[in-house]
Amino acid sequence: MASGHHQTDVVIVGAGPVGLFTVFECGMVRLDCHVVDVLDDAGGQCTALYPEKPIYDIPGFPKVDAAELIVRLKAQAAAFKPVYHLGEQVQSLEALSGGFWKLTTAKGTVLQARAVIVAAGVGAFGPNRPPLEGIEAFEGRSVFYYVTQRENFRDKRVVIAGGGDSAVDWALSLAEIAARVSVIHRRDRFRAAPDSEARLKALAAEGRIDLVVPYQLHSLDGAGGQITAVNVATLDGVEKKIPADVLLPFFGLSMSLGPIADWGLALDRSQLAVDPATMATSRPGIFAVGDIVAYPGKLKLILTGFAEAAIAARSAYALIHPETPLHFEYSTTAGVPGA
Ligand SMILES: Cc1cc2nc3c(=O)[nH]c(=O)nc-3n(C[C@H](O)[C@H](O)[C@H](O)COP(=O)(O)OP(=O)(O)OC[C@H]3O[C@@H](n4cnc5c(N)ncnc54)[C@H](O)[C@@H]3O)c2cc1C
Repeated sequence: MASGHHQTDVVIVGAGPVGLFTVFECGMVRLDCHVVDVLDDAGGQCTALYPEKPIYDIPGFPKVDAAELIVRLKAQAAAFKPVYHLGEQVQSLEALSGGFWKLTTAKGTVLQARAVIVAAGVGAFGPNRPPLEGIEAFEGRSVFYYVTQRENFRDKRVVIAGGGDSAVDWALSLAEIAARVSVIHRRDRFRAAPDSEARLKALAAEGRIDLVVPYQLHSLDGAGGQITAVNVATLDGVEKKIPADVLLPFFGLSMSLGPIADWGLALDRSQLAVDPATMATSRPGIFAVGDIVAYPGKLKLILTGFAEAAIAARSAYALIHPETPLHFEYSTTAGVPGA
């Protein structure tokens, strides 16, 4: 969507699962939305971090892949014709006269609205990078921080570094299709689910996974974006070379609120403090939903975020149309456009 100057009822910051469902809930109370996300695709953590993982706790779906859930949420929101601004980070939030808010993105897009619903999840997130000299030259070509398509690793020699759930889960999964999987960890003990760790060690005992412990990443060999080997070392400096096509470092995510921290909103540790009865933040007209919020009993689950979206949309409606109280209707009565 082009940059420029836009006016709408509600700006939603973040097109993760909760932001997408917020579009739907706003639509149900006849509020138009623009949605902004810094990533190039909608879907938040579901798309960026685990598109091929099945989710089991979405009501009505015994099992749904994260990417599939996003496709369905976008389809559900489409009835209300949201305008997406993808690949744009919202940087500033400014109060205008007349109860309007002005948001400006890093690319200069200006959005003006009566209400803002912040659905920014964990804020600005990115992988923790291992401090290896020259690693940038291989990133996105033979060094990956997320697995978006498992098939890309078929018949490859894969080196996985890390000791948490992602490292162990992907080692187990890729061992089924890769030519070789080596797992490097600085300790013999893993921080993964005990059952997964047991399966990892069983596959290692069968010779189907190489456990390279206790070692740490030391350097990379390769050229033109393609690694040829991962060099590892013990704390005592004993080195070892592992021939490899791909390195997957899984050292967790660095998360920060990013520019949102400067919007003058009350925080509860590094999350936005909200009143769960309305999803209102400390600034009137700014609401928040999903992983970014904190209140007593908050569960960081997609389904909780969906319920928060319904509450926030009704609160935004009450702010924008104080003269016409909302008549509560079920979707079975109200219907949706085009259905
Ligand atoms: C591996 C893994 C497995 C999971 N499994 C489950 C599960 O089984 N069930 C479950 O319920 N939950 C699960 N979760 C958690 C679930 O993914 C989150 O609860 C959910 O993604 C939160 O949705 P959200 O829309 O609030 O935030 P997010 O998905 O984090 O989306 C927020 C979006 O906001 C954008 N953003 C942030 N700041 C800005 C800004 N300033 N400008 C523009 N855009 C911005 C981000 O780019 C992002 O796209 C899992 C999480 C992970 C990592």
